[in-house]
Amino acid sequence: MTVDEDPGGAVQGEPHDNWMREALILAGEAAAAGEVPVGAVVVRDGRVIGRGRNGPVGSHDPTAHAEIAALRDAAASVGNYRLSGATLYVTLEPCVMCVGALVHARVQTVVYGATEPKSGAMESTQRAHEHPALNHQIRVVSGVLAAECREVLQAFFRQRRAQTVPHET
Ligand SMILES: [Zn+2]
Repeated sequence: MTVDEDPGGAVQGEPHDNWMREALILAGEAAAAGEVPVGAVVVRDGRVIGRGRNGPVGSHDPTAHAEIAALRDAAASVGNYRLSGATLYVTLEPCVMCVGALVHARVQTVVYGATEPKSGAMESTQRAHEHPALNHQIRVVSGVLAAECREVLQAFFRQRRAQTVPHET
């Protein structure tokens, strides 16, 4: 696990692992629905206030990423689009759209599992949350249960390849 931007010392280990397992359950629900398995939960004051899973195919909605769904769920449940003090756990490194949404929501901390080399916008392709024009700082913790988070994705794509390209060698 690596910790960025948190010189104050993010809490590592069990608490992060436990919340990430909640996000992994949602990733599994996405896979069962035929969506790329990514799951997210929003946690504040020691409890989950929002849950989301990836679902752009079924909902015909390009914005239906797990993070967006979890933010919408959390904001609706607390009656405030600002989620100050909240932590979002997501199984995969957020894309630039989701980083934007996390900034709008004033999420305090983002904890993610696997990196996303092609579209990840917190370390892989850029560090969008560090753009100097932003007036909100997000703390980032990466690599939490990374192996499990990556495996759920790899299993999904293995299965999909087996189904759609039966003669692939
Ligand atoms: Zn996204």
